[in-house]
This record gives sequence, C-alpha cells and structure tokens, in this order.
Amino acid sequence: MKFDPANNIQDLQYFGEFGGVNPSISDSSTYTFLSAKKMFDTFEGNAEGCYLYSRHSSPSGLYLSEALAAMEGAEAAHIASTGMGAITAAILQLCGQGDHLVVSRTIYGGTYAFLKNLAPRFGVTTTFVDHTDLDAVESAIQKNTKVIYVESVSNPLLEVADIPSLSKISRKHNLQLLVDNTFTPMMISPIRLGADVVLHSLTKFINGSSDTMGGVICGSREFIDRLKNVNDGTSMLLGASMDSLRAASILKNLRTLHIRMKQHSFNASFLAERFQADGLRVVYPGLVSHAGHLQMCKMIHEEYGYGGMMTLDVGSLEKANQLMELMQERNLGYLAVSLGFYKTLFSAPGTSTSSEIPEEEQLEMGLSDGLIRFSIGLDQDIDRTYQLMVKCMREVGILEESPAVMA
Ligand code: PLP
Repeated sequence: MKFDPANNIQDLQYFGEFGGVNPSISDSSTYTFLSAKKMFDTFEGNAEGCYLYSRHSSPSGLYLSEALAAMEGAEAAHIASTGMGAITAAILQLCGQGDHLVVSRTIYGGTYAFLKNLAPRFGVTTTFVDHTDLDAVESAIQKNTKVIYVESVSNPLLEVADIPSLSKISRKHNLQLLVDNTFTPMMISPIRLGADVVLHSLTKFINGSSDTMGGVICGSREFIDRLKNVNDGTSMLLGASMDSLRAASILKNLRTLHIRMKQHSFNASFLAERFQADGLRVVYPGLVSHAGHLQMCKMIHEEYGYGGMMTLDVGSLEKANQLMELMQERNLGYLAVSLGFYKTLFSAPGTSTSSEIPEEEQLEMGLSDGLIRFSIGLDQDIDRTYQLMVKCMREVGILEESPAVMA
C-alpha cells in the first residue's frame, strides 16, 4: 500500500484511561514501582512498559513520539522540548571529540551557530558546503567525518536537498545522514528516501499554533534507545525533555497537520505564481523556475504540495522593512520569526533568523539584505490577500502603480 504520513497517524488508535477518545495525560514527573528489582531493571533499560522519570520518557511523550515515528516511517522517535534540543542531542550522540560533519551552508541560523561556535568546544568540527553540489559534499568528507547534515528544504533560501543521492554518498562512506524536515512535514519523508535520522522543530508547522516549543528525533530503535540511555544518552543527560501536557497538546494538533499543509501549500503556490507573473523576485520550490523544482517533484507526496515557505527579494533591507511594517499594519500577517502559523509570518532572515551567519558568508550563499522570508498562512481567500499585498508593494514602491491606479 502507498506510504502516506497522514494515514499512518490516522491508523494509530489510543484510548484514555476511562475510554476517552484522547489518551489520558500522565501528569507526573516520577513513577512508582511495585518492586525495587523492577526499578533497577528500568534504569538498565530492560523493563519495557515501565516509566521511571519524565526526563527519560512519559506515557504522553511516548504517544506523541509514536505518532511522529509513524508519520516519518521511522522505527522510533524521541521528543525534545525544542527543535534545537533535538538537533544538538542527535549531533552530540553521533559526534564526539575529534569527529567531523559535512553540513549544508544554508541551514537555520541556530544550527549553524551551534556547529560553528559551540560544537568546536567539544572537539567537533564542521565543513559547510553547497549541498546542491554533490561533488562538493563528497570532497568535503574526511577520515573523521561521521555525519552529513542537511535540511530537506533549507532555511531561509529554500534550496532542495537531493536526499536519495546524499544517502548514497553517506552510505558509501559509512556515515549517518541527518535531515531536518521542519519546512516540509507530510510532503517529504526523508527516511523513506534513505536518511538515517530525521529531525523537526515541532514549534513550526507540526504544532501549528505558535503556542509552544518542541522538537523530535526520528530514527532506528537502536539510535533512539541510545539517546535515552541513563549513562551516556544525550537526550537524557542534556535534559531538553518535553513536558507531558505539551506532548498531549501537540499530539492533538498533529492530527490536522495534513489539512493545514495542503492549505499552506495552496496559498503559497497561489501567491508565488502571481508574484512571479508580476515580475517580482520570488523563490518557491513549487515554481518551475526554482532550481530544485524537479528534485522536489521526485521526492514529495504530491497531494500535500510544495509547502508554505516562500521568499521575496525586494532589493534592500529598507524596502523589506517598509513592506513588512505596512503588511502588518494592514493585518496581512505578522512581522515575526518562526513559521507554520495560521497567519502569514514574515521576517528578513539576514537580520533575524540567520543573523548568526557572518555577512560575507550570507552574501556568498545568496542571502541578500532585501530578502523577506514568508511563512504563508491559512487564509481562506488568498486572492483577496494577494490584492492587498500588491497594494502595499505599490505604496512602498516595490511594484509600479498600475495604470488603473495611477489614472
Ligand atoms: N530547524 C529549522 C529549519 C528551524 O527553522 C528552526 C527554528 O527556527 C529550528 C530547527 C529550531 O527549532 P526550535 O526553535 O524549536 O528550537
């Protein structure tokens, strides 16, 4: 049967303690044992079905982990309190003193800063490459390389990773391929395409209501168990665990993710096509003009579209700021970082989410000053939004006044 992330979530069945249609929330940080021996076995990781302490795991956390693993077609998953909590734990579980990673140069600024500034303090070094150049990726591999790390669709430049080819390179050199799939949940299933580990910031589309932080690591059962090991597991010992109440609320939102993703994709695609026709410098992986479009077509579950993320280069930071402020004033969205909200969110990554990347590197990778990153919302009438956005663009001089307006 065809693999479908939404069906996989829908096929799970949970009941609450009293027959509730939602699983009961385990509002406890610690758990009792009927015998001291059972407690010892649980510490050793040998007591399936027993809970120890909520930093390790909780019933509510396991329900959410199971649903996310099903979504990604992974054997297992482990949730974290933030996306960075998941990313840093996964990397540090795989890389220690003297190890090296090959990483896409266009990635979320926090991940970049971690690898560039903090990981070297633990003896972990990184070579950043243009990951769309597969020869560059392979050439950057050293004797001590352990991991290739990319984002399926990168933040903020929306470059598309060729996951099957990266997986071939990774396997050839006996490495682990880690893919951050935050921008493309439902659409792309990296593990099915050969990735070893998939990461998400749940803070974004998956939760979708901008009210909580969260992260997840999906991978083999063996890897997930290692992360949770009480003696040397990075998830267990670095401590970025998620609270049960949050895990329960994210699970409820996850169930509507497939519907939301379709609407985000429909709206973003509508705007991208119109803006392109207007002669604006728009980047959207659903556009045939996008360098990664064909690659994206090969990888996506097409019913979920090409995602809700789009960028627009309006030429200068000054123009970008004027436009964003005006769009917010007209209630077309919010001038805010993050993504996956029901309202459109926009920010200029060069001075916000990617500001950790030095200016000369931003220029080299094509991250210009006037670039606005949009997370397109769930607007019911996207044509109306388009008309109002165009009006703002005319007022700030990004688009010329139309003859009708000028008359
Ligand atoms: N990965 C991507 C692609 C992101 O955009 C972000 C945050 O913006 C993160 C990871 C980090 O997630 P969190 O903010 O939940 O720690």
